[in-house]
Amino acid sequence: MVVAADRMINYLRISITDRCNLRCLYCMAEEGVPVQDHRQILTYEEILTVARTAVGLGVDRFRVTGGEPLVRKGVVDFVGRLAALEGVREVALTTNGLLLPALAGPLRAAGLARLNVSLDSLRPRTYRRVTRGGSLEAALRGLATALAEGFSPVKVNVVLLGGLNGGEVETFAALAGAYPLVVRFIELMPLGESHRWPRYRFLPGPAVMARLAQGGRLEPVAGIPGNGPAAYYRWSPHRPAEPPRLPGVEATGNGVATLGMISPLSRPFCSGCNRLRLTADGKLHACLATEAGVDLRRALREGAGERDLGELIRQAAAMKPEIHSLGSGCGRRRRMSELGG
Ligand code: SAM
Ligand code: SF4
Repeated sequence: MVVAADRMINYLRISITDRCNLRCLYCMAEEGVPVQDHRQILTYEEILTVARTAVGLGVDRFRVTGGEPLVRKGVVDFVGRLAALEGVREVALTTNGLLLPALAGPLRAAGLARLNVSLDSLRPRTYRRVTRGGSLEAALRGLATALAEGFSPVKVNVVLLGGLNGGEVETFAALAGAYPLVVRFIELMPLGESHRWPRYRFLPGPAVMARLAQGGRLEPVAGIPGNGPAAYYRWSPHRPAEPPRLPGVEATGNGVATLGMISPLSRPFCSGCNRLRLTADGKLHACLATEAGVDLRRALREGAGERDLGELIRQAAAMKPEIHSLGSGCGRRRRMSELGG
């Protein structure tokens, strides 16, 4: 088992591409990121070698992410092979949802256990603005397909963006009250594009929770499956809002929402952090807020065996800081699309 600063590492996030079919304001520059040459990107075979080695060190949960993971050809087959590795307990995936209408069913059949869909607004204009051109209708169709295919609950990730979606918290809660969804609000981190953003864009999680507590009954809840740092609550609103409709899915909920809050800035959760991140070009990082990491691609292409790879994975884990320093702007050069958000 890999242990770093007293934390057991059992979770690996794998970015399979740095490309994306959206250009979210806080994540990518308008013209996109300077994408890597295909040869710089790990092949699926190479990623599976890393995954097998990580399993041998005690990692048994994986998340496939990006960039947008569903734009890489062969993703369904890759997920199936990852899920079938001996010792793997769970494979999950994070997506913007746009390609789920075609892929949710095949991914589930391939063995994908859980899906997180990122959706920062339920207003078509705001969604278009935040994603620089994305269609809310298409994203909702993707989310609806995930539910129809039996992923349950689907987690919806909402990055809190002051002046953009701050007024939509109750509408998102209504969505979670109507469908088998867990909506998780995430504090914006000053990474990549957002590191120079003005303060008002950064909405503190505790302030959002205080608002919800005023508008309804808010109770902590345990037992929501996942490997992440969210604190979960049930929220019964005093005055329920009309939930947005998901096409083709019956709204069976009773209006009580399960909500999560991820507050990396207000309430750092580093002491419980159990994860490593593999970038699409083969760097392994122990923390998204540091540049420190090891180059697994070079090792793989120089013929490293599982023993050498295992040693490198241990080295990467040992680079985990006690606590991140995002508040001091240290993560600013890196985007989540590169780090495997
Ligand atoms: N394209 C996929 C998606 O959007 O779900 C997967 C990759 S994306 C980088 C993963 C998650 O990171 C998304 O939920 C996104 O909102 C989040 N993210 C990206 N940049 C962020 C930032 N600066 N602060 C907080 N979350 C961020
Ligand atoms: Fe693409 Fe996801 Fe980044 Fe948005 S958050 S630009 S969907 S990688």
